[in-house]
Amino acid sequence: MSEEVLVAGAGIAGLGVALALGDSRRVTLIDRDPPAPQGDTEDAFLHWERRGATQLRHSHVFLGRLTRLLEMRYPELLRDLVDAGARIFTFEDGLPPPLRAGYVKKPGDEELSILFSRRTTLELVMRRYVARMGNVRILTDTAVRGIVVADGAARGLAVGDAGETLRADLIVDASGRNTAFPDWLRAQGLSVREETSPAGILYFTRHYRMNDGAQEPVRDGTPGAGDLGYIKYGVFPADNRHFSVTLAVPEIENELRTAVMRPEIFDAICSQIPGTARWTDAARAAPASKVFAMGNLVSVWRSTVDAGVPQLLNFFAVGDAAVRTNPLYGRGCSAGVVHAHVLRQCLNASANPRTRALLFEAETRKALRPYFDSMVRQDRQAIRRAEAERDPHHAPSFRARAIKSLIEDAVGPAARGDIESLRAFSRAFHMVDVPDLWWRDPGQVARLLRFWSMPKSIKRARGFYPPKFGPDRAAMLSHLKLAS
Ligand SMILES: Cc1cc2nc3c(=O)[nH]c(=O)nc-3n(C[C@H](O)[C@H](O)[C@H](O)COP(=O)(O)OP(=O)(O)OC[C@H]3O[C@@H](n4cnc5c(N)ncnc54)[C@H](O)[C@@H]3O)c2cc1C
Repeated sequence: MSEEVLVAGAGIAGLGVALALGDSRRVTLIDRDPPAPQGDTEDAFLHWERRGATQLRHSHVFLGRLTRLLEMRYPELLRDLVDAGARIFTFEDGLPPPLRAGYVKKPGDEELSILFSRRTTLELVMRRYVARMGNVRILTDTAVRGIVVADGAARGLAVGDAGETLRADLIVDASGRNTAFPDWLRAQGLSVREETSPAGILYFTRHYRMNDGAQEPVRDGTPGAGDLGYIKYGVFPADNRHFSVTLAVPEIENELRTAVMRPEIFDAICSQIPGTARWTDAARAAPASKVFAMGNLVSVWRSTVDAGVPQLLNFFAVGDAAVRTNPLYGRGCSAGVVHAHVLRQCLNASANPRTRALLFEAETRKALRPYFDSMVRQDRQAIRRAEAERDPHHAPSFRARAIKSLIEDAVGPAARGDIESLRAFSRAFHMVDVPDLWWRDPGQVARLLRFWSMPKSIKRARGFYPPKFGPDRAAMLSHLKLAS
């Protein structure tokens, strides 16, 4: 008999579980939020109320890992997404100008395509696809209120205002970043291990729509994303002539982080950064939303296996409920859907609940931990850099200067001037290879050293340095009339 699975949460990871298990098990997704509106992508963008997923109206992309997974396993879903206006942006589309002319496609490049779309469109289309799967049912407007545990195993969920109990063979927590399951489990005397690390930033997003007849800016090498130290920016092309801009401000930038919420300040910042100004120029596009803000961006790694002992059998947490990451890396959705497929693999490998729990713990670590560790390291460096930006007397250490030079004079130019380096970096960015794998490749290290030792004048002449991202902190604050 096929197993009955109850999933708390019908966000990206919950939908991923339905995709991964819906062909072989009966899956019920339970979400506290209302169903998607009946209408089109605009209705979803404007009206879908999602208090359970407050990041819904922030910029989102699907990285190569997820886009490829959809293409290989769920081609119809990918077609639905494209039909709804989502766009596949290939490795070739994103090549910097110095590498375009000589580009020859190589096996593996097809794994490096991004799916551009508003998150509301991604989720709407995924939700509708999953709802059409025979074995999947979605209960909306239904909050999960607790977990039913007996004899060391999860047996069901308490749902709705009356706390009705639904029973199942397997319980999955896909209830996202604010999951209540760890508290419920601890209240039952079970241990949930938790590691946290600050992302150190606040996220601000505004959506825009291209004016009728206007075209997207030509990709001439002006960076669509960059880090000015006191602010990070990114332009996210999306579906149906929409795009959004995200500004990530370090938590310690008190004045800036308050001011950026004001639409006129947000747009004034965009106008000073060449990579955003060319998009938000009033001749090209008009704002389509207010400025959305999001804080409490903390990376979290949770586990319900303690010292090799599974705390609760037949219970699995996937997506943000288990592994929450800094949104800047754009990895959360890919990680959530990959995680759901890790679950499928573990459930299919054994029918023994204990074996399943241990396997899921081990395979989750293998699939996601390298990205988590590398992200936490980079976030710590970024927090230190943001602190240094505010201190005019800061004298960086030799190590800090060496790392800065390595990034600016070797990694950056190699990514713009050497196709093999760009492939290696992109494979890590897209979660195809584990991060830092390229460090272990002597050929890759040799290429980096070649770029590091090349005179700056030659690198500049060949277009291997990006144009300046934007004004320095003092100039920006003075333009915005904010105190430094
Ligand atoms: C600002 C921001 C920008 C991001 N940008 C990107 C990006 O560009 N690319 C990317 O891949 N990732 C991005 N992420 C990460 C991504 O949003 C998450 O990793 C992803 O949504 C996780 O999916 P999930 O299903 O685990 O959680 P969610 O998508 O948050 O879904 C959780 C669901 O559970 C429901 N729920 C919660 N509690 C209950 C309950 N008690 N009962 C019933 N239902 C409940 C909620 O209503 C919600 O639908 C971003 C995150 C943030 C914060």
